[in-house]
Amino acid sequence: MSGKENSSPVCVEGQHAEVNSISDKSNSKSAAASSGEDNGWTLDDFDVGRPLGKGKFGNVFISREKKTKRIIALKVLFKSQLLSLGVSHQLKREIEIQYHLRHPNILTLYGYFHDDKRVFVMLDYASRGELFNVLQAQPGHKINEVIAARFVRQLANALKYCHSKGVIHRDIKPENLLLDGKLNLKLADFGWSVVADQSKRHTLCGTMDYLAPEMVSSQPHDFAVDIWAIGILLFEMLVGYAPFANQTGDKLIARIKECQIYIPSTVSDGAGSLIKAIIKKEPSERLPLADIMAHTWIQEKRLLEDAEVAVFLSTLSKSSSRHGSSNN
Ligand code: AMP
Repeated sequence: MSGKENSSPVCVEGQHAEVNSISDKSNSKSAAASSGEDNGWTLDDFDVGRPLGKGKFGNVFISREKKTKRIIALKVLFKSQLLSLGVSHQLKREIEIQYHLRHPNILTLYGYFHDDKRVFVMLDYASRGELFNVLQAQPGHKINEVIAARFVRQLANALKYCHSKGVIHRDIKPENLLLDGKLNLKLADFGWSVVADQSKRHTLCGTMDYLAPEMVSSQPHDFAVDIWAIGILLFEMLVGYAPFANQTGDKLIARIKECQIYIPSTVSDGAGSLIKAIIKKEPSERLPLADIMAHTWIQEKRLLEDAEVAVFLSTLSKSSSRHGSSNN
């Protein structure tokens, strides 16, 4: 399991204070519409309920839009904090990119608004919360292969859509994958994502456990870093920890660069063959997303999904759910 200690994203790209550029857009209808701002939203439009969680930069509350009764997750961020932490650039990127992505496996960002002190981001409510917490609650921090295959298929599907729009997510990890009440995966947190042009990117971005070899070697990177992360995620879901977990510093970097992965015998041959086809040092050799979705192991497990999802959901209902049992 990737502990939260290795899970803080690293990014060596310059950060600029751009909170005020968000504010400036409130004067421009067209700019606002294209960047996710629903002109005219205020806090008075919502009944704000219990907190769903606390992030690094703010809190998230379950909320109901008074007029439509739509349930959403409202993320509340303080401008002063965004400025002092130098993350306003990251938030701006997150809003602008995520607002334009509409896919069943991507968390919908409906829009944002702000007052003097705070920025409010309106998000799809994912009642089962983070995959990270779901994994933590399982014995051995791992899940059965049918559920893992479902999440890999849905994530590959979401990334295929992102990549077709030129978006590289660059921070795939269980903390950034939310689950709805029907156990559908929702890709979230586009704070480190980027719209790629033809050239390769050089910024070191992501979370240590999930960083691809070309990133830790400071080589240019492209869409293939997201594919690498799918392989790491699949390993973690089946084994209970990420393949390079419990390593730090130079040791971690050396192991990632050498692509040294030992797959335990508890992992089936089918799942192991998929992990090996994804975790390749050479980015161009990693199994393409369409082939991941079509992989025999994924397709075999898909036939068993309906029954397994029902069982898995019933175990989640018994064990926690800090997010309640809503079926959104
Ligand atoms: P974040 O600030 O995005 O890290 O979110 C903080 C916490 O709020 C996390 O633990 C999430 O589980 C929860 N959370 C964030 N967004 C949502 C959402 N759209 N639906 C349900 N819970 C959420």
